[in-house]
Amino acid sequence: MNLLITGGAGFIGSNLIRHVIDKPEVARLVNLDSLTYAGHLENLAGIHGTHPRYAFEKVDLRDKDEVLRVISQHDITHVMHLAAESHVDRSITGPGDFVTTNINGTFHLLEAYRAHWSDPASSIQDRASRFLHVSTDEVFGSLGETGFFTETTPYAPNSPYSASKASSDLLVRAYHHTYGLPTVITNCSNNYGPYQFPEKLIPVVIQSILARKPIPVYGDGLNVRDWLYVGDHCEALWTVLTSGQLGETYNVGGHNEKANLHLVQIMCDLIDEFKPEVSGNSRSLITFVTDRPGHDRRYAIDASKIDRELGWRPAHTFETGIRETVKWYLQNQAWIRSVTH
Ligand code: NAD
Repeated sequence: MNLLITGGAGFIGSNLIRHVIDKPEVARLVNLDSLTYAGHLENLAGIHGTHPRYAFEKVDLRDKDEVLRVISQHDITHVMHLAAESHVDRSITGPGDFVTTNINGTFHLLEAYRAHWSDPASSIQDRASRFLHVSTDEVFGSLGETGFFTETTPYAPNSPYSASKASSDLLVRAYHHTYGLPTVITNCSNNYGPYQFPEKLIPVVIQSILARKPIPVYGDGLNVRDWLYVGDHCEALWTVLTSGQLGETYNVGGHNEKANLHLVQIMCDLIDEFKPEVSGNSRSLITFVTDRPGHDRRYAIDASKIDRELGWRPAHTFETGIRETVKWYLQNQAWIRSVTH
Protein backbone atom coordinates (compact mmCIF):
# COMPACT_ATOMS: atom_id res chain seq x y z
CA MET A 1 0.00 0.00 0.00
CA ASN A 2 1.31 3.44 -0.93
CA LEU A 3 -1.16 5.28 1.26
CA LEU A 4 -2.08 8.95 0.89
CA ILE A 5 -3.74 10.53 3.93
CA THR A 6 -5.05 14.04 3.32
CA GLY A 7 -5.49 16.34 6.31
CA GLY A 8 -2.96 14.32 8.30
CA ALA A 9 -1.87 17.34 10.35
CA GLY A 10 -5.40 17.87 11.70
CA PHE A 11 -7.19 16.27 14.62
CA ILE A 12 -8.45 12.96 13.19
CA GLY A 13 -5.77 12.77 10.48
CA SER A 14 -2.88 12.91 12.97
CA ASN A 15 -4.52 10.28 15.20
CA LEU A 16 -5.04 8.17 12.06
CA ILE A 17 -1.39 8.44 11.00
CA ARG A 18 -0.30 7.21 14.45
CA HIS A 19 -2.84 4.42 14.19
CA VAL A 20 -1.78 3.06 10.78
CA ILE A 21 1.86 3.99 10.15
CA ASP A 22 3.28 0.78 11.59
CA LYS A 23 0.76 -1.57 9.97
CA PRO A 24 2.65 -4.13 7.88
CA GLU A 25 0.43 -3.40 4.85
CA VAL A 26 1.67 0.22 4.66
CA ALA A 27 4.84 0.44 2.56
CA ARG A 28 4.76 4.23 2.36
CA LEU A 29 2.51 6.86 3.96
CA VAL A 30 2.23 10.31 2.41
CA ASN A 31 0.57 13.09 4.40
CA LEU A 32 -0.87 15.83 2.15
CA ASP A 33 -1.84 18.90 4.12
CA SER A 34 -1.78 22.63 3.43
CA LEU A 35 -1.42 23.44 7.17
CA THR A 36 -4.35 25.79 7.65
CA TYR A 37 -4.99 27.21 11.14
CA ALA A 38 -6.26 23.69 12.02
CA GLY A 39 -3.23 21.73 10.77
CA HIS A 40 -0.12 21.41 12.96
CA LEU A 41 2.93 19.25 12.47
CA GLU A 42 3.32 19.26 16.28
CA ASN A 43 0.44 16.75 16.20
CA LEU A 44 2.84 14.30 14.54
CA ALA A 45 5.77 14.54 16.96
CA GLY A 46 7.78 11.33 16.78
CA ILE A 47 6.68 10.62 13.19
CA HIS A 48 7.09 13.76 11.09
CA GLY A 49 10.70 14.05 9.98
CA THR A 50 11.76 10.80 11.66
CA HIS A 51 9.67 7.84 10.53
CA PRO A 52 11.32 6.06 7.58
CA ARG A 53 8.04 5.28 5.79
CA TYR A 54 6.49 8.75 6.21
CA ALA A 55 6.61 11.63 3.74
CA PHE A 56 5.00 15.06 3.99
CA GLU A 57 3.66 17.16 1.12
CA LYS A 58 2.59 20.72 1.96
CA VAL A 59 0.01 21.00 -0.78
CA ASP A 60 -3.34 22.73 -1.05
CA LEU A 61 -6.12 20.54 -2.46
CA ARG A 62 -7.27 23.52 -4.47
CA ASP A 63 -4.08 23.28 -6.55
CA LYS A 64 -5.09 20.52 -8.93
CA ASP A 65 -1.71 20.14 -10.66
CA GLU A 66 0.06 19.68 -7.35
CA VAL A 67 -2.50 17.12 -6.20
CA LEU A 68 -1.93 15.16 -9.41
CA ARG A 69 1.84 15.40 -8.97
CA VAL A 70 1.69 13.97 -5.43
CA ILE A 71 -0.47 11.02 -6.44
CA SER A 72 1.62 10.11 -9.43
CA GLN A 73 5.06 10.82 -7.94
CA HIS A 74 4.38 8.60 -4.90
CA ASP A 75 2.54 6.01 -7.01
CA ILE A 76 -0.39 6.19 -4.59
CA THR A 77 -2.54 3.06 -4.41
CA HIS A 78 -4.82 3.94 -1.48
CA VAL A 79 -6.32 7.24 -0.33
CA MET A 80 -7.88 8.20 3.01
CA HIS A 81 -9.34 11.64 2.38
CA LEU A 82 -9.83 13.73 5.51
CA ALA A 83 -8.60 17.22 4.57
CA ALA A 84 -11.46 19.66 4.91
CA GLU A 85 -12.63 22.85 6.49
CA SER A 86 -14.37 21.26 9.45
CA HIS A 87 -15.79 23.86 11.83
CA VAL A 88 -19.53 24.57 11.49
CA ASP A 89 -19.32 28.03 13.12
CA ARG A 90 -16.63 29.12 10.65
CA SER A 91 -18.80 27.85 7.76
CA ILE A 92 -21.55 30.22 8.89
CA THR A 93 -19.32 33.29 8.99
CA GLY A 94 -17.26 32.38 5.88
CA PRO A 95 -18.63 29.60 3.67
CA GLY A 96 -16.27 30.25 0.71
CA ASP A 97 -13.35 28.09 1.87
CA PHE A 98 -15.78 25.26 2.62
CA VAL A 99 -16.92 25.23 -0.98
CA THR A 100 -13.45 25.51 -2.51
CA THR A 101 -11.68 23.02 -0.21
CA ASN A 102 -14.41 20.51 0.56
CA ILE A 103 -16.05 20.38 -2.87
CA ASN A 104 -13.44 21.52 -5.41
CA GLY A 105 -10.62 19.96 -3.41
CA THR A 106 -12.37 16.57 -3.33
CA PHE A 107 -13.02 16.90 -7.06
CA HIS A 108 -9.30 17.51 -7.72
CA LEU A 109 -8.36 14.50 -5.61
CA LEU A 110 -10.86 12.27 -7.41
CA GLU A 111 -9.62 13.45 -10.79
CA ALA A 112 -5.97 12.88 -9.84
CA TYR A 113 -6.71 9.43 -8.47
CA ARG A 114 -8.73 8.56 -11.57
CA ALA A 115 -5.89 9.64 -13.85
CA HIS A 116 -3.38 7.55 -11.90
CA TRP A 117 -5.78 4.62 -11.66
CA SER A 118 -6.23 4.59 -15.44
CA ASP A 119 -2.50 4.88 -16.11
CA PRO A 120 -1.17 1.45 -17.16
CA ALA A 121 2.25 2.46 -15.81
CA SER A 122 0.97 2.85 -12.23
CA SER A 123 1.03 -0.04 -9.73
CA ILE A 124 -2.45 0.86 -8.67
CA GLN A 125 -4.29 -1.77 -10.70
CA ASP A 126 -2.08 -4.58 -9.42
CA ARG A 127 -3.35 -4.13 -5.93
CA ALA A 128 -6.65 -3.87 -4.11
CA SER A 129 -6.72 -0.10 -4.48
CA ARG A 130 -9.16 2.05 -2.53
CA PHE A 131 -10.30 5.65 -2.19
CA LEU A 132 -11.87 6.17 1.23
CA HIS A 133 -13.77 9.42 1.68
CA VAL A 134 -14.23 10.44 5.32
CA SER A 135 -17.48 12.26 5.96
CA THR A 136 -19.88 13.24 8.69
CA ASP A 137 -23.33 12.35 9.99
CA GLU A 138 -24.23 16.04 9.64
CA VAL A 139 -25.09 15.40 5.97
CA PHE A 140 -28.32 13.76 7.18
CA GLY A 141 -29.68 16.91 8.84
CA SER A 142 -31.42 16.87 12.19
CA LEU A 143 -33.42 14.20 14.07
CA GLY A 144 -36.33 14.64 16.44
CA GLU A 145 -36.52 12.94 19.83
CA THR A 146 -36.37 9.46 18.32
CA GLY A 147 -34.87 7.55 15.38
CA PHE A 148 -31.35 7.07 13.99
CA PHE A 149 -29.47 7.89 10.80
CA THR A 150 -28.90 4.83 8.65
CA GLU A 151 -26.97 4.54 5.39
CA THR A 152 -30.24 5.04 3.49
CA THR A 153 -31.39 8.18 5.32
CA PRO A 154 -31.87 10.94 2.71
CA TYR A 155 -29.34 13.75 2.78
CA ALA A 156 -30.67 17.03 4.23
CA PRO A 157 -27.67 19.19 5.19
CA ASN A 158 -28.46 22.39 7.08
CA SER A 159 -25.15 24.28 7.39
CA PRO A 160 -22.67 25.35 4.72
CA TYR A 161 -20.24 22.84 6.29
CA SER A 162 -22.62 19.88 6.04
CA ALA A 163 -23.78 20.96 2.56
CA SER A 164 -20.16 21.01 1.36
CA LYS A 165 -19.51 17.56 2.84
CA ALA A 166 -22.74 16.23 1.31
CA SER A 167 -21.65 17.58 -2.09
CA SER A 168 -18.27 15.88 -1.82
CA ASP A 169 -19.92 12.59 -0.78
CA LEU A 170 -22.10 12.73 -3.89
CA LEU A 171 -19.10 13.37 -6.15
CA VAL A 172 -17.34 10.34 -4.68
CA ARG A 173 -20.45 8.24 -5.18
CA ALA A 174 -20.71 9.44 -8.79
CA TYR A 175 -17.07 8.58 -9.53
CA HIS A 176 -17.76 5.02 -8.47
CA HIS A 177 -20.92 4.69 -10.55
CA THR A 178 -19.63 6.56 -13.59
CA TYR A 179 -15.99 5.53 -13.81
CA GLY A 180 -15.91 2.45 -11.59
CA LEU A 181 -13.46 4.13 -9.21
CA PRO A 182 -12.92 1.88 -6.14
CA THR A 183 -14.48 4.21 -3.57
CA VAL A 184 -15.95 3.75 -0.09
CA ILE A 185 -17.50 6.42 2.15
CA THR A 186 -17.86 6.68 5.92
CA ASN A 187 -20.25 9.01 7.74
CA CYS A 188 -19.19 9.45 11.34
CA SER A 189 -20.59 11.14 14.41
CA ASN A 190 -18.76 13.71 16.58
CA ASN A 191 -15.25 12.70 17.55
CA TYR A 192 -13.34 13.59 20.70
CA GLY A 193 -9.83 12.82 21.93
CA PRO A 194 -6.22 14.10 21.87
CA TYR A 195 -5.04 16.79 19.39
CA GLN A 196 -8.46 18.36 18.74
CA PHE A 197 -7.97 22.03 17.92
CA PRO A 198 -9.22 24.17 20.82
CA GLU A 199 -12.15 25.70 18.95
CA LYS A 200 -14.33 22.57 19.24
CA LEU A 201 -16.62 21.93 22.18
CA ILE A 202 -14.58 19.53 24.32
CA PRO A 203 -11.20 21.36 24.31
CA VAL A 204 -13.00 24.72 24.58
CA VAL A 205 -14.78 23.54 27.72
CA ILE A 206 -11.60 22.14 29.28
CA GLN A 207 -9.66 25.36 28.60
CA SER A 208 -12.48 27.52 29.97
CA ILE A 209 -12.64 25.51 33.19
CA LEU A 210 -8.87 25.68 33.69
CA ALA A 211 -8.90 29.46 33.10
CA ARG A 212 -12.00 29.79 35.35
CA LYS A 213 -13.76 31.52 32.46
CA PRO A 214 -17.46 31.18 31.52
CA ILE A 215 -18.17 27.92 29.66
CA PRO A 216 -20.25 28.83 26.60
CA VAL A 217 -23.22 26.48 25.99
CA TYR A 218 -25.44 27.17 22.98
CA GLY A 219 -29.20 27.73 23.47
CA ASP A 220 -30.77 25.51 26.14
CA GLY A 221 -27.87 23.02 26.01
CA LEU A 222 -30.19 20.19 25.03
CA ASN A 223 -28.84 19.61 21.51
CA VAL A 224 -27.82 15.96 21.36
CA ARG A 225 -24.68 14.56 19.69
CA ASP A 226 -23.40 11.00 19.45
CA TRP A 227 -19.75 10.99 20.66
CA LEU A 228 -17.06 8.64 19.41
CA TYR A 229 -13.50 8.34 20.73
CA VAL A 230 -11.11 9.27 17.90
CA GLY A 231 -9.07 6.07 18.25
CA ASP A 232 -12.22 4.04 17.61
CA HIS A 233 -12.93 6.14 14.52
CA CYS A 234 -9.40 5.48 13.22
CA GLU A 235 -9.87 1.73 13.61
CA ALA A 236 -13.23 1.97 11.79
CA LEU A 237 -11.54 3.84 8.91
CA TRP A 238 -8.80 1.20 8.65
CA THR A 239 -11.45 -1.55 8.69
CA VAL A 240 -13.42 0.09 5.89
CA LEU A 241 -10.27 0.80 3.85
CA THR A 242 -9.14 -2.81 4.04
CA SER A 243 -12.42 -4.70 3.96
CA GLY A 244 -15.29 -2.37 2.98
CA GLN A 245 -17.30 -3.24 -0.10
CA LEU A 246 -16.62 -0.96 -3.08
CA GLY A 247 -19.28 1.67 -3.70
CA GLU A 248 -20.74 1.26 -0.19
CA THR A 249 -21.16 3.76 2.60
CA TYR A 250 -20.79 2.92 6.29
CA ASN A 251 -22.14 4.87 9.25
CA VAL A 252 -19.75 5.07 12.20
CA GLY A 253 -20.95 6.03 15.67
CA GLY A 254 -20.24 5.59 19.34
CA HIS A 255 -23.65 4.61 20.75
CA ASN A 256 -23.07 7.55 23.11
CA GLU A 257 -25.80 10.13 22.79
CA LYS A 258 -25.30 13.05 25.13
CA ALA A 259 -26.98 16.45 25.43
CA ASN A 260 -24.33 19.19 25.24
CA LEU A 261 -25.20 20.42 28.74
CA HIS A 262 -24.79 16.94 30.22
CA LEU A 263 -21.44 16.52 28.45
CA VAL A 264 -20.22 19.83 29.87
CA GLN A 265 -21.34 18.85 33.37
CA ILE A 266 -19.41 15.56 33.11
CA MET A 267 -16.24 17.47 32.13
CA CYS A 268 -16.72 19.95 35.01
CA ASP A 269 -16.95 17.06 37.46
CA LEU A 270 -13.90 15.30 36.00
CA ILE A 271 -11.74 18.41 36.26
CA ASP A 272 -13.01 19.01 39.80
CA GLU A 273 -11.82 15.45 40.54
CA PHE A 274 -8.44 15.72 38.76
CA LYS A 275 -7.50 19.27 39.80
CA PRO A 276 -9.17 20.05 43.11
CA GLU A 277 -6.63 22.84 43.70
CA VAL A 278 -7.91 25.01 40.81
CA SER A 279 -11.54 24.11 40.85
CA GLY A 280 -14.27 23.07 43.22
CA ASN A 281 -17.49 23.95 41.60
CA SER A 282 -16.75 24.18 37.90
CA ARG A 283 -20.42 23.74 36.99
CA SER A 284 -21.01 27.31 38.19
CA LEU A 285 -19.01 28.50 35.12
CA ILE A 286 -21.67 27.19 32.70
CA THR A 287 -23.09 30.13 30.74
CA PHE A 288 -25.85 29.82 28.14
CA VAL A 289 -25.15 31.84 24.98
CA THR A 290 -27.28 32.68 21.92
CA ASP A 291 -27.92 29.57 19.88
CA ARG A 292 -26.03 28.87 16.63
CA PRO A 293 -28.24 29.71 13.59
CA GLY A 294 -29.80 26.57 12.10
CA HIS A 295 -28.44 24.48 15.02
CA ASP A 296 -29.40 20.84 14.39
CA ARG A 297 -31.22 19.42 17.41
CA ARG A 298 -30.15 15.81 17.50
CA TYR A 299 -27.78 13.49 15.65
CA ALA A 300 -27.77 9.75 16.34
CA ILE A 301 -26.09 7.08 14.27
CA ASP A 302 -27.21 3.55 13.62
CA ALA A 303 -23.81 1.86 13.26
CA SER A 304 -25.14 -1.69 12.92
CA LYS A 305 -24.07 -2.18 9.28
CA ILE A 306 -20.33 -1.77 9.93
CA ASP A 307 -20.66 -4.03 12.98
CA ARG A 308 -22.65 -6.72 11.16
CA GLU A 309 -20.70 -6.69 7.88
CA LEU A 310 -17.16 -5.74 8.92
CA GLY A 311 -17.09 -6.60 12.63
CA TRP A 312 -16.21 -3.09 13.86
CA ARG A 313 -17.59 -1.66 17.08
CA PRO A 314 -16.14 0.98 19.42
CA ALA A 315 -13.72 -0.27 22.06
CA HIS A 316 -14.14 2.75 24.36
CA THR A 317 -17.18 3.57 26.43
CA PHE A 318 -17.87 7.27 26.83
CA GLU A 319 -16.77 7.08 30.47
CA THR A 320 -13.31 5.63 29.63
CA GLY A 321 -12.80 7.82 26.56
CA ILE A 322 -13.69 11.12 28.20
CA ARG A 323 -11.51 10.39 31.26
CA GLU A 324 -8.52 9.67 29.00
CA THR A 325 -9.25 12.78 26.95
CA VAL A 326 -9.57 15.19 29.88
CA LYS A 327 -6.33 13.78 31.36
CA TRP A 328 -4.57 14.21 28.02
CA TYR A 329 -5.50 17.92 27.82
CA LEU A 330 -4.45 18.49 31.41
CA GLN A 331 -1.05 16.89 30.68
CA ASN A 332 -0.58 18.63 27.31
CA GLN A 333 -1.13 22.31 28.00
CA ALA A 334 2.15 23.01 26.18
CA TRP A 335 0.58 21.57 23.00
CA ILE A 336 -2.41 23.92 23.41
CA ARG A 337 -0.04 26.88 23.71
CA SER A 338 1.98 25.83 20.67
CA VAL A 339 -1.03 25.42 18.35
CA THR A 340 -2.77 28.61 19.47
CA HIS A 341 0.20 31.01 19.64
P1 NAD B 1 -9.42 19.37 11.28
O1 NAD B 1 -10.02 20.69 10.99
O2 NAD B 1 -8.83 19.13 12.64
O3 NAD B 1 -8.27 19.04 10.21
C1 NAD B 1 -8.42 19.32 8.86
C2 NAD B 1 -7.04 19.24 8.19
O4 NAD B 1 -7.21 19.49 6.78
C3 NAD B 1 -6.04 20.27 8.72
O5 NAD B 1 -4.79 19.66 8.97
C4 NAD B 1 -5.93 21.28 7.58
O6 NAD B 1 -4.66 21.91 7.50
C5 NAD B 1 -6.22 20.41 6.36
N1 NAD B 1 -6.75 21.19 5.22
C6 NAD B 1 -7.79 22.06 5.26
N2 NAD B 1 -7.97 22.61 4.05
C7 NAD B 1 -7.04 22.05 3.22
C8 NAD B 1 -6.71 22.22 1.85
N3 NAD B 1 -7.38 23.09 1.07
N4 NAD B 1 -5.71 21.49 1.33
C9 NAD B 1 -5.01 20.62 2.11
N5 NAD B 1 -5.25 20.45 3.43
C10 NAD B 1 -6.26 21.16 3.98
O7 NAD B 1 -10.56 18.31 10.96
P2 NAD B 1 -10.91 16.93 11.67
O8 NAD B 1 -11.82 17.21 12.82
O9 NAD B 1 -9.68 16.17 11.90
O10 NAD B 1 -11.79 16.24 10.54
C11 NAD B 1 -11.16 15.48 9.50
C12 NAD B 1 -12.23 14.98 8.54
O11 NAD B 1 -13.17 14.16 9.23
C13 NAD B 1 -13.03 16.09 7.87
O12 NAD B 1 -13.23 15.73 6.52
C14 NAD B 1 -14.34 16.11 8.63
O13 NAD B 1 -15.40 16.54 7.80
C15 NAD B 1 -14.49 14.65 9.00
N6 NAD B 1 -15.25 14.40 10.24
C16 NAD B 1 -14.90 15.01 11.39
C17 NAD B 1 -15.62 14.73 12.56
C18 NAD B 1 -15.25 15.37 13.89
O14 NAD B 1 -15.96 15.19 14.88
N7 NAD B 1 -14.14 16.10 13.99
C19 NAD B 1 -16.68 13.83 12.54
C20 NAD B 1 -16.99 13.20 11.32
C21 NAD B 1 -16.26 13.49 10.18
